[in-house]
Amino acid sequence: MTSNFPVVQHTFNFKCTQCADCCTGDQIVLLNLFDLYKLAGFLNLQNTVQLFEKGLLILHKENGVYRPQIRFKKLPFKFCPFLINDVNESGALKGWCRLHSSAKPLVCALSPIGLRFDVQQDHLEFLLVPPTGSCPGLKEQQVQNRDQYLKSYQKEIELQKRYFKILESCKAKEWNKTQFKQNLYGFSVTSPFEEILETLENKFLKSGS
Ligand code: SF4
Ligand code: SF4
Repeated sequence: MTSNFPVVQHTFNFKCTQCADCCTGDQIVLLNLFDLYKLAGFLNLQNTVQLFEKGLLILHKENGVYRPQIRFKKLPFKFCPFLINDVNESGALKGWCRLHSSAKPLVCALSPIGLRFDVQQDHLEFLLVPPTGSCPGLKEQQVQNRDQYLKSYQKEIELQKRYFKILESCKAKEWNKTQFKQNLYGFSVTSPFEEILETLENKFLKSGS
């Protein structure tokens, strides 16, 4: 994530109007390992590889690593496959997330707060990242307390940090898409997630492999 966004120290103004702008168009929605686990469970899949096989996810390259990205539908317009589309009285698009709340990707759940994690310094910052250039929710006068807003996601934020550490260790490997999918993003979801994550940490952070 780039560093040009303001850091949120205490409060910010926001109230989502459910305009669905951030779930349509050319948005790039990136998932972490726990998001994959939640999504596979939500769809009753046994393995996260099936999310790619079913065409729900693709891999997006950024900063030398590949990350899972939701593959938006292209017709009749570009939109997230998990968006439940509706229109309001004026005919404008209105939308709800089918994954809300149990399987919603962390990046969507925290929006407009974005995470910037410095792996070397083990330092996390919270940025105000506009979901889209014209997000009407940011013009609402509702004051949000940052810590209160993030309260129910503390565990997932910690999991995201652990994922970023693994990702950082993968940079030097210069894997291609297939290798990322096989080595990092394809796992069985029949075990508790903590076990899966520990296995990956042992493989990538402790053994030096
Ligand atoms: S663009 Fe803003 S107001 Fe619209 S759905 Fe996304 S977060 Fe909510
Ligand atoms: S997962 Fe949900 S919140 Fe995120 S882009 Fe898709 S519909 Fe929107």
